[in-house]
Amino acid sequence: MDILYKSTRNSDITVTASQAIIKGLSEDGGLFVPVEIPKLPVNPWDLAGKTYKEVAFVVLRQFLSDYTDEEIKECIEKAYDDKFDTKEIAPLRQADGAFYLELFHGKTIAFKDMALSILPHLLTTAAKKQNIKEKIVILTATSGDTGKAALAGFADVPGTAIIVFYPRDGVSRIQEKQMVTQTGDNVNVVAIKGNFDDAQNGVKEIFGNKGLEEKMLEEGYRFSSANSINIGRLVPQVAYYVYAYAKLVETGSVMAGDKINIAVPTGNFGNILAAYYAKNMGLPVNKLICASNENKVLFDFFESGVYDKNRDFILTTSPSMDILVSSNLERLIYMAAGNNAEKNAGLMKDLKEKGKYEISEEMKENLKGFVGGFAKEEEVAEEIKHLYNNARYVIDTHTAVASSVYRKYKEETKDKTVTVIASTASPYKFSRSVMSAIDEKYAGMEDFALMDELSRTSGTAIPAAIEEIRTAKVLHTTVCDKVMMQSVVEKILSGN
Ligand SMILES: *Cc1c(COP(=O)(O)O)cnc(C)c1O
Repeated sequence: MDILYKSTRNSDITVTASQAIIKGLSEDGGLFVPVEIPKLPVNPWDLAGKTYKEVAFVVLRQFLSDYTDEEIKECIEKAYDDKFDTKEIAPLRQADGAFYLELFHGKTIAFKDMALSILPHLLTTAAKKQNIKEKIVILTATSGDTGKAALAGFADVPGTAIIVFYPRDGVSRIQEKQMVTQTGDNVNVVAIKGNFDDAQNGVKEIFGNKGLEEKMLEEGYRFSSANSINIGRLVPQVAYYVYAYAKLVETGSVMAGDKINIAVPTGNFGNILAAYYAKNMGLPVNKLICASNENKVLFDFFESGVYDKNRDFILTTSPSMDILVSSNLERLIYMAAGNNAEKNAGLMKDLKEKGKYEISEEMKENLKGFVGGFAKEEEVAEEIKHLYNNARYVIDTHTAVASSVYRKYKEETKDKTVTVIASTASPYKFSRSVMSAIDEKYAGMEDFALMDELSRTSGTAIPAAIEEIRTAKVLHTTVCDKVMMQSVVEKILSGN
């Protein structure tokens, strides 16, 4: 059976998996979704004992129906290798009454590595299948994490080049150092004089410039994006939820067929949507717990059925969740509307024009499997401290949002279902907030000294990703005016 993909805004647009991955976004502004979410070919508990790569293969081949088994296997082999600092790829750690699915063992020590280490291979394979001869040029604007994960994923991948723009004064020192020290013959990093929105708008303008697109095609380049709305980023994320379940069965923590809860610290809604896809594939899931920080648009949405982005943007200690428009939610809305593209397009029009929309009672009924929650800044810090004191387990600020929300959920509902919490970043990535939460005395310390303290306190080794940037050479020094982004791109490509 061949799974095709449709736009969430126009059901007449149908593409194959490889076409959806190349296109990224549909021409009508919609997101690609499978016409029907495929079922797992086996019972999830029968995957107990399988390796991460084996589980990933079972999941991916259900979605990537126009890829051959060999192609999928090759992509998986290239992605989940010794770039990860553990053979398990995504280990499950039990601490203080929950299971933490550690998704931060890749190159950039955050969960985006799980998808961005395979996307370049899915993309180059798709290009081959579609007979695309041009070099694929990834353009990305980043506020920090995505840029580094994309750079690490695409570095030295044949047939690709990547250009990352970041706001010169809008990323942390560690994040900047991670990016400007990136090695690889095909990577380019550019600081722009402006904020994240300027960088993002600049990239959008380049994508929208038809004249430039034609000129670049003539010169042998095709622009593409590594954005989280690409189905090629969503599908690999489904795999780790199936893997987590298989592990729980393998270790006797649940019995075959038992349901689990999954709690996810949520920003753009990609990670938790992958868990929902896993549920629809047949994974036994009770509740999906959607955890927000103080930017609690999603919590309000699950409470009221009204999505309203008209509010102040709050800067928190979990910056990767500081988001007011969660792009991937559109895929859930579409399903809640009964795969009705017209209905979804209407709601998205409201969002664009009024900054809000309201779903019907019937659609709300369809979202009963989700529970929304949020954690305030002081609750996040308390949670980090609590886990450290009670289990000697140190978690990062994003994971702590989900952990705190789950703790409150459990107290309120007395739900005893075994729960998996997606652990999305290494505490080393946010060592300042993490260490200050454990003890105020760390507040004034210098970044790398803090990491040494964290290593001592948690009894864990400093990840290679951090060790490397301590001494790594700065390789990228280009700074450009925000209006010059396009000419910088042309200059980079003419020199390649
Ligand atoms: C991106 C990110 C998130 C949010 O994930 P979404 O898929 O956007 O919901 C949470 N935590 C960390 C550390 C992230 O980098």
